[in-house]
Amino acid sequence: MSVTVTFAGSGDAFGSGGRFQTCILVDTPVTRFVIDFGASSLVALNKMGIEHNTIETIVLTHLHGDHCGGIPFILMDAMLGAKRETPLTIVGPRETEKKLVALSEATMPGMHFMIPKFDLTYVEIDVLNPTQIGNLIITSFPANHTGQTKPTSVRVEVAGKIISYTGDSAWNKYIPKVAENSDLFICECYYYEKPIRFHMNYKDIKAHWNELKAKRTVLTHFSREMMLNKDSIPEETAYDGLVISL
Ligand SMILES: [Zn+2]
Ligand SMILES: [Zn+2]
Repeated sequence: MSVTVTFAGSGDAFGSGGRFQTCILVDTPVTRFVIDFGASSLVALNKMGIEHNTIETIVLTHLHGDHCGGIPFILMDAMLGAKRETPLTIVGPRETEKKLVALSEATMPGMHFMIPKFDLTYVEIDVLNPTQIGNLIITSFPANHTGQTKPTSVRVEVAGKIISYTGDSAWNKYIPKVAENSDLFICECYYYEKPIRFHMNYKDIKAHWNELKAKRTVLTHFSREMMLNKDSIPEETAYDGLVISL
């Protein structure tokens, strides 16, 4: 079995184009994990018939709701409907646990009284410090995005492959390192030409294209304006349901 990457959600925060928020599922011979878990991600997985209990690790790039807002719902269902018994690890930047506990209590008041019957572990990793978590080696990089979200880009090594994702970020000096030698580099491309703070647009990506030394690059997280232009560009673009075998 090879490594496959499934875009359960490839959209922006606002449902542009009817797309689900970021949720990138990775299947390998040794583990199944997701990168980011937006508010709509449980719906996205259910629509694809993917049992969320089979996900061993959730890796979060940052703490905006379109990248982590689905956590209260997956945890609640894991405790009630899906009756999860196997361990779940949630990996993210600093403050991940504190912010997600607060988010859970805000969206599902009373949830803190429930004790999971499975091992739930939060791991907060520092940037530029490769960290082994189960079968994954995760390296996060500083991203140029809303500071309160503790923004990072991530690079995950697993089963002899490297999958990397910018998360939400304006161009910065680390992005070539995130992409370097990746088997799949997933790159935010929020707008086509409108400059927007804390994000990359298509013109930024083209300006730096030669610095992105990945084996394969896919653009994602499109605004309405980018949705109108996505079919006119030669680069590979993500969509909900896209499956890539590495
Ligand atoms: Zn986002
Ligand atoms: Zn964001």
